[in-house]
Amino acid sequence: MAPAERFDLIVIGSGPGGYVAAVRAAQLGMRVACIEKRARLGGVCLNVGCIPSKALLDSSEYYHLVREHFAEHGIRTGQVELDLATMMARKQRVVEELTDSVRQLLEGHKIRIVHGTARLAAPGRVTVPPNGSGDREADYQADNILLATGSMPVEVPGLAFDGRRIVTSTEALSFSSVPRRLGIVGGGSIGLELGSVWQRLGSRVTVIEMLPKIAAGLDGQVGRTLDRILRSQGLDIQVNTRVVSAEVRPRSVRVTTERDGQRQTTTFDRLLVSVGRRPNTTQLGIEKLGIRTEGDGGPVVVDEKYRTSVPSIYAIGDLIAGPMLAHKASAEAVAAVECMAGRTGEVNYDAIPSVIYTWPEVASVGLTEEEVRQREIPACIGTFPFSGTGRARCMGEREGFVKLISHARSDRILGVHIIGPRAADMIAECVLAMEFGASSEDIARSVHGHPTFAEALQEAALTAQKCSIYTS
Ligand code: FAD
Repeated sequence: MAPAERFDLIVIGSGPGGYVAAVRAAQLGMRVACIEKRARLGGVCLNVGCIPSKALLDSSEYYHLVREHFAEHGIRTGQVELDLATMMARKQRVVEELTDSVRQLLEGHKIRIVHGTARLAAPGRVTVPPNGSGDREADYQADNILLATGSMPVEVPGLAFDGRRIVTSTEALSFSSVPRRLGIVGGGSIGLELGSVWQRLGSRVTVIEMLPKIAAGLDGQVGRTLDRILRSQGLDIQVNTRVVSAEVRPRSVRVTTERDGQRQTTTFDRLLVSVGRRPNTTQLGIEKLGIRTEGDGGPVVVDEKYRTSVPSIYAIGDLIAGPMLAHKASAEAVAAVECMAGRTGEVNYDAIPSVIYTWPEVASVGLTEEEVRQREIPACIGTFPFSGTGRARCMGEREGFVKLISHARSDRILGVHIIGPRAADMIAECVLAMEFGASSEDIARSVHGHPTFAEALQEAALTAQKCSIYTS
């Protein structure tokens, strides 16, 4: 075996956790290697997650707008046709441009990129087996190792993924034709986003959710509104419903579900199973080193500095506890590397935004109304509908609202929940406000441009203050 290459830090995984950590470490003067088993850098997020799903959401939204909404704006079109192959090729181009940018970013910071499946051999030592071309196993050593291997889809017993009829989100981002009937098991963000894509492109979509509601983590009022709007768009949402069995046939899959003791069998062309993701520790060798996880196959346990139970080995992102979100992984990446370098790195988990990119979008940060009640926190709640803003009217959007929750005594903002156009971008102001410990009065007295969607946030804050100009 050739002598091991030495680094200050080896990062395993190049997703939004891994590549951000590698760059931050290089900025702080460390000699860094980043090991990635995929052909392209960027992890799930860039290759088969956030980016391709948003590219398809945008493309399918244009298709929907042309067909359903252009006429009301006085724009007549001829017959509109879907060219799915071009739509998919465009999505792939976006992915490739962005993953190439990550490569350039790492190269620009003189980070050694290694392609292969990394395995922990010992604290400070990683091996990468030969990739099939007869190479010898490569050996790398470092003072510190950062695990950023992300997550993988959870498989449901009886619904084994076959990549054709019963699929994960990865295949559902690349169907070569529009499924006539698409079943989706799991009404979380991934299921609802991909359900929206294929419904807009012509599929009859059924969402099967075991819980009494979709997107269960949302503020209740927002969740109910989302459910109503998605149903009005044509999604068949079946809550309190569990899949009993699935029978794969050559061209379809027959799914039997049960609700209130009643069984029903439906035939789908494809079944997307999106019931959640689990930390990816496969082939990593953490057991051998005694790295602790929460239960069998659960998140890797870390301390406040992101150190695992082996102090020179750190972990971040989907691999550890907390919301499985790209920006959370990147924030932890910076914090972990800064801790490693003896600086103070930390993440404020009370102010992590989350977004569902349906139309309308849903974005939230902080506590929901239910959480505030459960914790018996005295709160003021201000809501304001987008239909009350000029900008939304110009756009033809009447659905949705902003809901702002502040502490009844201190007025400090505890949470903001938005369902409506451009919610994903509007939530940034709320995150900043919460980071600065702002009050609802701070937002209410900040001048917001007119006409903008953000005026609804200001009005919600004014409503919490009981001095809204537009509501009585
Ligand atoms: P990952 O991005 O999963 O990267 C881990 C990398 O490690 C992978 O590239 C993997 O190949 C590599 N790896 C694993 N094991 C090894 C090994 N042994 N050796 C070498 N390499 C290894 N989040 C959002 O914030 N917004 C969204 O809109 C959003 N949309 C999503 C849509 C879909 C369809 C999916 C599936 C996810 C979405 N997510 C979204 C979640 C987001 O993608 C993840 O939270 C994020 O990618 C986690 O980043 P990470 O760096 O922890 O891991």
